[in-house]
Amino acid sequence: TQERLRKAETLNVVGEMAAGVAHEIRNPLTSLKGFVQLMQNEGQAHEAYYSIILNEVDRIDHIIKEFLLLAKTDRQEVQKISLVNTLKETVSLLETQAILKNITLDLVCEEDLPDSHCDPFQMKQVFINLIKNAIEASNTGGKITITAKRKDSKYIHFTFTDNGTGMPNKVLNRIGKPFYTTKEDGTGLGLMVSYKIIENHKGTVDVSSEVGKGTTFEISLPLSP
Ligand code: ADP
Ligand code: MG
Repeated sequence: TQERLRKAETLNVVGEMAAGVAHEIRNPLTSLKGFVQLMQNEGQAHEAYYSIILNEVDRIDHIIKEFLLLAKTDRQEVQKISLVNTLKETVSLLETQAILKNITLDLVCEEDLPDSHCDPFQMKQVFINLIKNAIEASNTGGKITITAKRKDSKYIHFTFTDNGTGMPNKVLNRIGKPFYTTKEDGTGLGLMVSYKIIENHKGTVDVSSEVGKGTTFEISLPLSP
């Protein structure tokens, strides 16, 4: 019965998520329909509407992509790899985005860190989500520091620190819940997906944040499951 209970709970979560996704997608769809109808009624295309329409399509695409990622978190494909390399790849992937806002990404890794048993694709998703959030929270000229070091003999420890907006307690208490976002164009799925991935890897996430000072996310991940 224990197992059955767990299954029922999982089904519930999936149902709630599906309802949430449907809701989140309906808003941009309604907006899309409205603008296309406007152009239809007026019998001509409007340059100004194009960017709105494209934005809404992008938003739907974004929500679906993150939702599919969440669906995939149940299937882990574990490999023995260097997470420091994954982290380096992720940083160079997001470097252009940071440069656009004149933000420095500083990566400090302990030498000779051992390989981890993990799903590299999923871990990369976590790194992308945390660094993107840090960039989005940062002001022009901000600095993001990322560290990787060994903790005890069994764990690797990562920190992601920004000196951006920070979060008040009421936000801090809600992050990671499905669709919770404070951003106009946010999905509120990034942290939920990331927490789920870390949980599946038997790791932990800690957050500390101060309004106006910045935020640190800390991840501890066992080297082997
Ligand atoms: P999204 O980025 O789409 O809003 P996330 O799940 O990635 O969704 O993040 C949820 C919320 O957590 C964000 O909207 C923001 O309010 C808060 N947040 C996450 N990371 C940071 C950070 N580094 N600094 C300040 N706020 C953050
Ligand atoms: Mg995000």
